[in-house]
Amino acid sequence: MKKDPDCIFCKIAAGDVPCCEICSDEVSLAFMDISPLADGHVLLIPKEHCVTVDEMSADQAVGVLKHVPTLVRAVRAATGCQGVNVLQNNGRVAHQFVPHVHFHIIPRNPGDEFHFNWPAGSYPEGGMKELAEKIRKQL
Ligand code: 5GP
Ligand code: ZN
Repeated sequence: MKKDPDCIFCKIAAGDVPCCEICSDEVSLAFMDISPLADGHVLLIPKEHCVTVDEMSADQAVGVLKHVPTLVRAVRAATGCQGVNVLQNNGRVAHQFVPHVHFHIIPRNPGDEFHFNWPAGSYPEGGMKELAEKIRKQL
């Protein structure tokens, strides 16, 4: 399994740095975020080191992401929150500060402090289909 000796989440996954664990198996670990955006903010990570989600294999993604529904149900039940964001940042420009893939599970409630700027745009005529074709060619 690939590890980065300088990576804080690799150290947590190996048990070399403590965390407040929620659950774990061979390939994944869920634990409490140390600086929560809301009470009950949980992080879900692969134990194997990879920086961004596009570095994950499909099998690795399945092994990690299969826990999302259970974790979201547990966070909802434990906190009584009204909603949950599952968020995953790739690259510093996308607010990734820890360079080991992680999925945020963030409880949400009316009037909470966590805000998105969601600048919904639009395509010029034909622009959406053109870009979709470009993306399909890259699959
Ligand atoms: P990012 O902005 O990279 O998507 O978020 C990284 C998250 O990891 C942050 O929410 C931060 O609070 C959390 N974090 C960073 N270092 C540690 C740590 O040593 N232990 C725990 N439990 N969480 C951490
Ligand atoms: Zn790592």
